[in-house]
Amino acid sequence: MRRLVRACFTGTGGYSYAKKAENVAREPGIDRVARLASNENPWPPSPAAIGAATEALRTVNRYPDERATVLVEALRRYHGDYRFVTGAGMDGVIETVIRTVVEPGETVAVSTPTFSFYGIAAAAHGARVVNVPRGEDFSVDPAEFVEACRGAKLAFLCSPNNPTGNSIPPEDVEEILEGMEGLLFLDNAYVDFADTDYRPLMRRHENLVIGRTMSKIFALAGLRVGYAFVPEWLEPFYQKAATPFALNSVSLAAAAGVLADTDRVRETRDHIGRWRQRFLTETPFRTYPSDANFVMINVAPLTGDEATEQLAAKGVLVRSCTSFPGLGNHYIRVCIGEDWENVRFLEAINTL
Ligand SMILES: *Cc1c(COP(=O)(O)O)cnc(C)c1O
Repeated sequence: MRRLVRACFTGTGGYSYAKKAENVAREPGIDRVARLASNENPWPPSPAAIGAATEALRTVNRYPDERATVLVEALRRYHGDYRFVTGAGMDGVIETVIRTVVEPGETVAVSTPTFSFYGIAAAAHGARVVNVPRGEDFSVDPAEFVEACRGAKLAFLCSPNNPTGNSIPPEDVEEILEGMEGLLFLDNAYVDFADTDYRPLMRRHENLVIGRTMSKIFALAGLRVGYAFVPEWLEPFYQKAATPFALNSVSLAAAAGVLADTDRVRETRDHIGRWRQRFLTETPFRTYPSDANFVMINVAPLTGDEATEQLAAKGVLVRSCTSFPGLGNHYIRVCIGEDWENVRFLEAINTL
């Protein structure tokens, strides 16, 4: 029956998941596992958000609000007066944006190495995916990117970039927006850990979508909440293309709750900033400057898979980057966790 499956799913590929803490074979003496593979917030969301989500459970016999009103209103309070669309994680938003603007056979450009889901989702939709390699230091040359995007309906650019950690200056994004014919999806999953603000570009450009997630600094990865800043013209079409009721009522309530707790966001950000500096300087390998809650490390002469295995044996889960197209075999990505996890990581990497 395999013949019934579409060709884009029968080969290799698909999303690579990080190893689960429960599945790690631990050496004797390792009590708990440091979970530094998935760029999550190490702490649970605020009690207010948990309370709101618990309360929302009482009404799950009803369909959720298709307009996601509580979340959109909370977003307006948090960010100001922009247009927002929502989805089941930013992954859900990415799929819906592709569905809204790309006809099968049309071109989607992706700045690589980067998050793999853009290419996976575009290919699954029948698009032709063109990878546009970053420079040797993983920077993006705006003029080259614009040139490579000729004829593309949609382009994906991630800043700060996963897994390299670096940001693209807003002026360079603006140059790309001015040169591009298609729509630019700027993935800002990690922008809350950076000092860069791309939101003002929304006021000046009609071909920009900025994707955001509640899975990282806002600590709701398990509830799958994503959203995007969109230009006004796009919103009604996005709504038509979206899966009905993609975002459930429990997630909506929790997301509105965490957006109200700005003290907690600031504390997380400060914690990440302190540890990021130590991750960059206290490992015996080459590291790359990061504006995110993770650091990429070149573990040569080890491969990323070898280093990941060896660290897992010491009770530290990190992400091997060998599944990121165009990056090569020698990189790992480690995110910043709680104090004890970070200490354990620094000890472990110094014994490889
Ligand atoms: C984590 C991540 C996302 C997706 O987040 P969800 O909202 O959990 O789907 C999107 N883009 C990048 C670059 C990410 O790292």
